[in-house]
Amino acid sequence: MRIGETFAAEIWKIAAVRLSGMVSENLYEQWIANLKPLYLDDACLVLGVANDFLGEWVESSYGSQIAEALCGIAGADYTYRLEQLPEEDIAETEPAADNVSSVADVQESAAASPAVAVAASSPVASPAAAGDDMLLDSSNLRSVTVNGKYTFENFVVGEENRYAYTAARRAAENPGVFNPLYIYGNTGIGKTHLLHAVVHETQKNNPRLVVRYATCEEILNSFVESLQSHRYGAFRSQLRDVDMLLVDDIHVLGSKGQLQEQFFNAFNALYSENKQIILTSDKRPAEIAGLEARLISRFEQGVTTEIYAPGFEVRLAILRNMQRDFTFQFSEEILEFIALRVSSNVRRLRGALMQLLTRVSIDRKTPLTLERVESILHNVFEEEFTSKLITVDDIQKRVAEYFNLRISDLLSNKRPKSIAEPRMVAMYLARKLTDSSFPQIGSAFGRNHATIMNAWTKVPELCEKDEELRRAVAVLERQLKG
Ligand code: ADP
Ligand code: MG
Repeated sequence: MRIGETFAAEIWKIAAVRLSGMVSENLYEQWIANLKPLYLDDACLVLGVANDFLGEWVESSYGSQIAEALCGIAGADYTYRLEQLPEEDIAETEPAADNVSSVADVQESAAASPAVAVAASSPVASPAAAGDDMLLDSSNLRSVTVNGKYTFENFVVGEENRYAYTAARRAAENPGVFNPLYIYGNTGIGKTHLLHAVVHETQKNNPRLVVRYATCEEILNSFVESLQSHRYGAFRSQLRDVDMLLVDDIHVLGSKGQLQEQFFNAFNALYSENKQIILTSDKRPAEIAGLEARLISRFEQGVTTEIYAPGFEVRLAILRNMQRDFTFQFSEEILEFIALRVSSNVRRLRGALMQLLTRVSIDRKTPLTLERVESILHNVFEEEFTSKLITVDDIQKRVAEYFNLRISDLLSNKRPKSIAEPRMVAMYLARKLTDSSFPQIGSAFGRNHATIMNAWTKVPELCEKDEELRRAVAVLERQLKG
């Protein structure tokens, strides 16, 4: 037994419960349930995966959820990384991992596909898996890797994302031209992909440039750590001693006063030296609640561009590209069917194809009609449907109405149960019924992501004991789904 094995299993148990609430049951069984806690490497939980391919998929699709689920367990924020399971362990986990072996099976003769990297957010000390790029060599920001597949070459361009793509490319080829570059848009439509692509491109053109990529959440964690450990200088240097700074999901800065101060200073220092800054967000600077005016004006002083969900042709091209990695090929008709039905989120689109592949590889005999595709992907289509209709604002309004409260009560800090419980219900439903992430919902409620995560686990627990609350949640969910 390796050191930390038992504890690793305990931590994973807690995280797995959280994850089971974060992704649909189906997807949980398919992907998350197949990860195996191996051991702890300091605060990094090492999870075993059956193969690199599966690792890449899990990381790119569920990486942020896994990271979220590992936050705040037993008073610590664990990170994770994926490692390929030794052969004997794969055999051992096979019964439970039916789906995995099927995916591997589908993959088996995909000789043309390059070795995929097990990209993971891991502490600096751990070696990056082959194919990943070590980026944050001298810092203690956690994310040291970028996804090897998120390149400009792998990004399908259409009218909806052309401007963002071109601007990112120009910034990579000619740092400082558009400064800062601010890309905003809905979730799952390529913002992170573009940032990683800038990293790859810059490293290719000019390997000596120090390029720092981090999510705003990671910067926040690093800031908090630096305050606790009094290593403030190191934190400062992470943001400033760079030639290019790329920050993903900058809206997380909203309402984080101290960090805004730090970021403002770093921004000014980099900007005055014409060092390229690229930011992504789910909204315009002026729409980020709790963002100081001076930062809004800094963020808006360069190029601000919106990226939109890609149109049908692009979605179809994305599916075709994905297929290139597999031996099993779907008909054009099926690809078109999926591209038509899943239009708002490329992450979901890719997930749909993966889900179909898995199912088909288990049962190759039944003919794959559109009806069968419809039934296999039923949950994905439903998710797509509700996510388009329901916004966090709607949810806040409905919940307030239902419990006879004002929206301002829901957003307040008031603690009586009659307000705190409806507030948690609203947070819970926001996560369940929209595409928004924990940090995004947090900003809509003026809270941090941990509060939303807490509501996410707490509400089902409360419902177990409280018949009335259970009914309220069910009624609201039905009403909202219209
Ligand atoms: P965001 O950061 O906007 O939430 P991501 O960049 O994480 O979205 O994209 C979600 C998934 O969709 C990723 O796997 C990404 O590679 C893929 N994707 C998004 N847009 C495109 C595109 N235009 N071409 C190819 N893949 C895309
Ligand atoms: Mg992103």
